[in-house]
Amino acid sequence: MTNRNKLAAAVGQLEEHLLWLKEEGTRTIAADPKSLNTAATPAPVSKPWKTDSPKVPSLGKTAAPAFQPLPPPPAPLIADVAAAQTKLAEIARHIAGCEKCVLCRKRTHTVPGQGNPQPEIMFVGEGPGEDEDAQGLAFVGAAGKLLTRMIVRMGLTREQVFIGNIVKCRPPGNRAPLPDEMAACLPYLREQIAILQPKVIICLGGTAVKGLLNNQTGITRLRGQWQKYQGVDVMPTLHPSYLLRGGGEDRARWWEVWNDLVAALRKVGREAPPQKTSAAS
Ligand code: SF4
Repeated sequence: MTNRNKLAAAVGQLEEHLLWLKEEGTRTIAADPKSLNTAATPAPVSKPWKTDSPKVPSLGKTAAPAFQPLPPPPAPLIADVAAAQTKLAEIARHIAGCEKCVLCRKRTHTVPGQGNPQPEIMFVGEGPGEDEDAQGLAFVGAAGKLLTRMIVRMGLTREQVFIGNIVKCRPPGNRAPLPDEMAACLPYLREQIAILQPKVIICLGGTAVKGLLNNQTGITRLRGQWQKYQGVDVMPTLHPSYLLRGGGEDRARWWEVWNDLVAALRKVGREAPPQKTSAAS
């Protein structure tokens, strides 16, 4: 690479970094000119990602992503992607007309899940909430926003993963789905997993673990321990909404979740982007 090309690449990476800071809400950058050419001692980062939820106090400035982009996942064959999308759409049509359990009665939209039809990583939660029911999309409410930040912190995008739930219709009042409702709906998820063929499933929360794995162990004990479902490695971890509620007041919980996500990344041959402390104020 010529010096000119190296300079252009560096400028591009700097621009990307500044845009990221802008998106994070940073408006000013304070930097000591004397420190620009010296290795700064990283300040401690109080949590692995930033949340914009009004319910959660800010836990400190999040680390900026690395300048070096991660290598893209291997490109799947177009024909395979198209075939997977067709099959997923077919399942979604079946779900849209499903009346196998009482959850069909009060739903506004079914929520089959969405994302990459050939993902390395699939996220599975317990069921749609109010926002998801209104939009027909999985994880688009407050917990979904936090999940998005987790995914970004992993060096991925929502478009690179698939996000779904055990049940595809909203339980009334956002209650947890009942065992018979999960059992009725599980065949759809099983079909989706067979089509998606993810390398890793990240199971979000105790209810999802019970529904998917029929494992009654409490999630705080089971999290971080690899499980198997249909031959796929499953990482149980805490639900984002748990972090947004009382459970997240214990910051160690945030780092436990982050460790689980890092383990999932390593399982698919990736590393999390290194943390880089921002000089922004
Ligand atoms: S939750 Fe699942 S099984 Fe129950 S009605 Fe909806 S799609 Fe059918």
